[in-house]
Amino acid sequence: MEKISIQKLFENINSLPKLAKKSEPTIKAVFRKLKSKKPKDLDNFVHNLHEEYFSEIDCLDCGNCCRSLGPRITENDIDRLSKSMKLKPAKFIEQYLHKDEDNDFVFKSMPCPFLAEDNYCMVYENRPKACREYPHTNRRKFVQILDISLKNRETCPVVYKISDDIVKKYQN
Ligand code: SF4
Ligand code: SF4
Repeated sequence: MEKISIQKLFENINSLPKLAKKSEPTIKAVFRKLKSKKPKDLDNFVHNLHEEYFSEIDCLDCGNCCRSLGPRITENDIDRLSKSMKLKPAKFIEQYLHKDEDNDFVFKSMPCPFLAEDNYCMVYENRPKACREYPHTNRRKFVQILDISLKNRETCPVVYKISDDIVKKYQN
């Protein structure tokens, strides 16, 4: 599998979906193995890489998730965001949200309406829970979100790199 630096991935962010698809069969095979073996050191391994890569890059130079993924917006998110914007929840929903095919609230359109040109989040303090947690590479029981991570490799350079490193460590 072709090894690419995190900086190169940042520079070629638009090629990420294509790159991710190319190596998907290899990643899928290793993830399948991990799901059945559930190695005890997986969380530590992934969390250390999360710290390492996020210390090397700045999400403000990317913003890819805020441009392309529609986070699920919970009732709590709606309450918090509408209050911070001094809007009634119903007005907030009418203005910014619609329901997706799973009946979850998501933004009416992407890029996110709160993404500023410099990639700052205009509602950062009150951003949705899904935004706070993305890309989930620091969560416990990482083995449970391998399928989501497989998808997130197409959007987030950090998830792409961590998946590569997982393959290197666990493929044999
Ligand atoms: S609310 Fe903020 S963090 Fe979430 S998608 Fe929009 S700009 Fe990004
Ligand atoms: S979380 Fe990933 S996709 Fe989102 S801005 Fe940071 S590096 Fe980019």
